[in-house]
Amino acid sequence: MERPVAWTKVKNDEPINAFAEDYKAFLDRSKTERECVSTSVELAESAGFVNLKTVLRNGQKLKAGDRVYRNWMNKSFMAFIVGSRPIEEGMNILGAHIDSPRIDVKQNPLYEDAGLAYLDTHYYGGIKKYQWVAMPLALHGVVVRKDGTRIPVIVGEDAGDPVFCISDLLPHLSQEQMEKKAAKMIEGEALNLLIGGRPIAKEENDKDKKDKKPVTENIVALLRDRYGMEEEDFLSAELEIVPAGQARDLGFDRSMILGYGHDDRCCAYPSLRALTDFSGVPAYTLCCILTDKEEIGSVGATGMASHFFENVTAELIACLGKTDDLTLRRALLESRMLSSDVSAGFDPEYASAFEKKNAAYLGRGICFNKFTGSRGKSGSNDANAEYIALIRRIMDDAEVCFQTAELGRVDLGGGGTIAFLCSKYGMNVIDSGIPVLSMHAPWEVISKVDLYEGYRCYNAFLTGAEPLEN
Ligand code: MN
Ligand code: MN
Repeated sequence: MERPVAWTKVKNDEPINAFAEDYKAFLDRSKTERECVSTSVELAESAGFVNLKTVLRNGQKLKAGDRVYRNWMNKSFMAFIVGSRPIEEGMNILGAHIDSPRIDVKQNPLYEDAGLAYLDTHYYGGIKKYQWVAMPLALHGVVVRKDGTRIPVIVGEDAGDPVFCISDLLPHLSQEQMEKKAAKMIEGEALNLLIGGRPIAKEENDKDKKDKKPVTENIVALLRDRYGMEEEDFLSAELEIVPAGQARDLGFDRSMILGYGHDDRCCAYPSLRALTDFSGVPAYTLCCILTDKEEIGSVGATGMASHFFENVTAELIACLGKTDDLTLRRALLESRMLSSDVSAGFDPEYASAFEKKNAAYLGRGICFNKFTGSRGKSGSNDANAEYIALIRRIMDDAEVCFQTAELGRVDLGGGGTIAFLCSKYGMNVIDSGIPVLSMHAPWEVISKVDLYEGYRCYNAFLTGAEPLEN
């Protein structure tokens, strides 16, 4: 059984290219979870969504067709369109995550060695550390001063900006390094960001003073001038090191996109767009949830394992005039969800890592994974056959190109997503997503046609999914 190549079904390139351009623009403005949330809020507000917090504060009630969103700690985001059917019949939910593997700056990061200034780091998520050296890097994030003022930081993206880097050893002296295993070639503690190399200028009469850190002192002075921050403010900062530069078309045929953070923004963006592009009153309440911390196990107050999704849904239901716990439980229990996360695209250069019949191929559309997990499906959500049949019906009716896959060869490894956390409520949920090459590398690859089929899939699901007899 082989699935069709989506490109062969394309009659008009224009909507695919237009969507790819929108997506690249989103990626360039959304390199961290916080930036994803701000662009999502912007997108939602421009599509008529109002902040649920404001609705609650004003004691307003919601009715069918109303559009609301909620931003959680600037790192997770949810949006709803209220349906005409009772919420107890469940919602049609699109979920994805907006955190991506990267390198975070430590809380006490600044140091100097041999006349060079560095920021010490701790990487976030599963990265191959050797991929992050000797390339231009940018710094994104926020510094929160003790008085609560937030200083946004983005350095390394504008043409005139400086960039940063993590150095590597020259080949001439790498005999010992090259003997090491790839996992040990560059160690976590060696991921230090080079940020400066010029000592602070001293007055003539200061010259006698012993100063062991003139380069970092200069950096601290620059940070004070530019951001009004002191070294101590690193304590309450979240600074993320990401590849510098924009997402680009890939290939002579421009059929693919090379970008940072496709995992999982290539699912998050089309999910959100499907919701914000929806017009009118849906039958069932529609929801899009973009969550943080998936790459480190969905933990923390902004991860899917937190109760914020449940709590915000309870608030939404309260605005519909129902405050009993049972309505909330029924709404979650009866829901249908596409939990979207990227799939490992089959890579002919690494064919032995995959099982060809059950691999996700670039260019064959959105991919559904009945299960994920590792070593005997461990840790997986395993979607119900009845639910998959419904999904197949919806996709075929809308002529969406889709494929099915597992993550790699059995016994080789595996991975998890947010699906198993949503399935805790008893709802029907299936993993779906777009195939990616070089997943978790600084620059990842997706196909434009898969991105667009993803968007079409989400549109079809929002209007087509309905309650199943469980
Ligand atoms: Mn990932
Ligand atoms: Mn992911």
